[in-house]
Amino acid sequence: MGSRQRWTEPESTGTAAVSHVRRDAYLITLVVLPVLALAAAVVAVWGHGVGPADLVIFAVMYAVSIFGISVGYHRMLTHRSFRCRRPLFLALTLAGGLALEGPASLWAAEHRRHHKYADRPGDPHSPWAYGESLPSLARGLLHAQVGWFYTARRRSVRRHWVPDLLADPVVRRMDAAYPAVVLLSFALPALAGGLATMSWAGMWSALFWGGLVRYAVVHHVTWSVNSVAHSFGGRAFDTRDRSTNVRWVALLTFGEGWHNWHHAEPTSARHGVLKGQFDASALLIRGFERLGWAHDVRWPDPARLARRLTDHLATEREAPSGLP
Ligand SMILES: [Zn+2]
Ligand SMILES: [Zn+2]
Repeated sequence: MGSRQRWTEPESTGTAAVSHVRRDAYLITLVVLPVLALAAAVVAVWGHGVGPADLVIFAVMYAVSIFGISVGYHRMLTHRSFRCRRPLFLALTLAGGLALEGPASLWAAEHRRHHKYADRPGDPHSPWAYGESLPSLARGLLHAQVGWFYTARRRSVRRHWVPDLLADPVVRRMDAAYPAVVLLSFALPALAGGLATMSWAGMWSALFWGGLVRYAVVHHVTWSVNSVAHSFGGRAFDTRDRSTNVRWVALLTFGEGWHNWHHAEPTSARHGVLKGQFDASALLIRGFERLGWAHDVRWPDPARLARRLTDHLATEREAPSGLP
């Protein structure tokens, strides 16, 4: 019953109605264009393959974008998992911008709202928004992946969710410079391709692979945390939401797919806390800390971690068999 209907977005404080123009712009840049780019990439690989220069440029731009989102936008700006020196702060905020997922403060505002209401009405992108049945989940996964960019009638208000970021002049300036960062995100791979091959063809080719295709892949890899890592995979900790751990998502997102612990302890600088959970972003933060560039890093407390694991096992034992 009601499985085709999404739960209503509460008109709570902290959200505002979003204009048609903005929704259309999101539809084009966040939903349609990446799908077209991915389709074009498949056709291009089929026809001509992809050269070594393009592969290297793609890989570098991918790594910068994913670390920019994971370490910069997410762990540093949204959750304040560590503090760092200004040049590194600026570099990580810029790297996050290069992923083309919006200005830092807007990204952080939507994400803080996600944590507050995770998998309940008010969560901007829960895969459970349409209900529990299989068709509802399929629709919910699409909603969590990209659908919400267009269908959401309300957006997070920055003044409400990220006043700390708005008070930071570096974040404000980077927000204002976002259109230039978008240009840079395409100009950098194009320039690298042109210089590497000393040809116009090499420039266009790198613009396609390192710019357009990379942005599409980075987007869908990031959004899979919102969809897949709230639906499938294991849960080692009790949280009020349905966050999970998914190994392939964690590998592609450099650690963000260990999403269950992240919802248990959102400010933790490490997401992969259990044995065998490789977390490249935590490794990078550790490197910054060793170099003296990052400080006040919130590493998980082993005693607290152990307690939360035991709590979860106890709940599992108490649950009647046959029920999740
Ligand atoms: Zn989440
Ligand atoms: Zn988070």
